[in-house]
Amino acid sequence: MKKDKALVVFSGGQDSTTCLFWALEKFAEVEAVTFDYNQRHKAEIDCAKQIASELGVKHHILDMSLLNQLAPNALTRTDIEVKDGENGELPSTFVPGRNLLFLSFAGVLASQIGARHIITGVCETDFSGYPDCRDIFIKSLNVTLNLSMDKNFVLHTPLMWLNKEETWKLADDLGAFDFVRKKTLTCYNGIIADGCGECPACKLRQKGLDDYLNTRKEL
Ligand SMILES: [Zn+2]
Repeated sequence: MKKDKALVVFSGGQDSTTCLFWALEKFAEVEAVTFDYNQRHKAEIDCAKQIASELGVKHHILDMSLLNQLAPNALTRTDIEVKDGENGELPSTFVPGRNLLFLSFAGVLASQIGARHIITGVCETDFSGYPDCRDIFIKSLNVTLNLSMDKNFVLHTPLMWLNKEETWKLADDLGAFDFVRKKTLTCYNGIIADGCGECPACKLRQKGLDDYLNTRKEL
């Protein structure tokens, strides 16, 4: 029998939507939190709202616009181009400590709503230089959150060791393949589902999808 309450860090993208389905299967009660930091596209927030409402999940939206003040970058400022990191450099979308801040606020919210479990879609496999998406960081933060609030939170990272193809498989195993494919927003240009096809996020998503569809055909 399912028990316990969970809070999913949720952006409306492929990864966090897959995590939301994962949590809904595992826990008795699930709520979601989205961070609003003046994303280049308001579409991201609208998409997250829409998905949460369709799945009947209580949705919290926290204003994190101070992030824009701290670290102007390609995701929040339209005058900077989104680029992949080259020669081991961080991508231009990098906001130092962003995940640390998001997960800390998620911890505070989880404490307030009485959720013991916190789920995040971070992943080390396509690690693109974000130190606060690494498994070791998540484990460290789990300890810190528990110490800071005298709680027994459990941070879950269902995608940590999955590549993009395996993330599509997980969505499929959860019966959410079509939902994730048609309703989530990953594209930097704010286009739902298959996206613009040109930006780094679209290319990564499409490649994983192609790989998964090829594997599925072979089975
Ligand atoms: Zn795109």
